[in-house]
Amino acid sequence: MKFLSEKRSDLLPAKEAVLDSITDPSKLHHHLLAHYGDEEREYKYRSLYLSSVDSACPREWVLGNCLGMINKQVVPVANRWQMDMGSVLHWHIQNNPKYFGDKIVGWWKCLACGFIRRFGVRPKEPCEKCHAHPRVSEYYEYKFRITTPYRAVGKMDLILRIAPRIYRIGEIKTCSKNIERPEGDHIAQAASYAYFSRYDTSGRLPITLDRSTVYLFYFNKTFNFRGPVRTFPVQPTERLMAPIKEKVALITEGVNTRTLPQPLTNCISHNFITGRAKDCGISKECKKYFESGVTQL
Ligand code: SF4
Ligand SMILES: [Zn+2]
Repeated sequence: MKFLSEKRSDLLPAKEAVLDSITDPSKLHHHLLAHYGDEEREYKYRSLYLSSVDSACPREWVLGNCLGMINKQVVPVANRWQMDMGSVLHWHIQNNPKYFGDKIVGWWKCLACGFIRRFGVRPKEPCEKCHAHPRVSEYYEYKFRITTPYRAVGKMDLILRIAPRIYRIGEIKTCSKNIERPEGDHIAQAASYAYFSRYDTSGRLPITLDRSTVYLFYFNKTFNFRGPVRTFPVQPTERLMAPIKEKVALITEGVNTRTLPQPLTNCISHNFITGRAKDCGISKECKKYFESGVTQL
């Protein structure tokens, strides 16, 4: 074997040796981790994401959709790390049979050939198409996109068979503390999945969902001797859904008739710079149309 006969001096790095002079543990990885740092993410204002229905601004979605705008957000590395940890845990919880076992049902994607496999419980048999081992099949979330009577899109973390022929939606959340009660935006998201998915006319889902209850699972990343999971049932009651339906209807109607909803009072009072406008991808355009009195696009 060639490398055994090489001189030690041949194996020593030449230019990269500069790394060896960095002793600060908070700096060394800047040279070693590829793609480390802030990241720019983009999304289009095509259909309202029900995952953010609670914080969504109707004007932002109507304006963004009608003008075909793209929301560009810089995600600082600290936030990106939080999101990545959440994604990794989501994947593990969905794909490790220790969690939910055969209660989790859905489609399964073969990573060897990309085939979306049959709907049902976790596969124990090889891929029907390429015969790859079932361990390379991963959970393929149910996504629905509706345009009428509402424009919205939702993607469910889990479909659970809680009793024979009774299937309910589950939503996974990760947290770093013990949760005593679910957060308002998570309740709105879970209830919206149950409510709006009834308008999915694609016919893709081969089962009927029981939409009376959705489960919010909070997986705590820190140690808790009582165990890591707290589960909260959410009912999409009329009282809970009324303001959400109103908001989604306002966005749908606005897009269909190209009519701009009023700006949020918080954005007007902060001159479209700070407050809620800080998290908005199109605050400059919003301000421009507001100041010029345009309400119809
Ligand atoms: S600036 Fe405020 S009111 Fe205007 S679109 Fe953005 S979030 Fe909505
Ligand atoms: Zn396959």
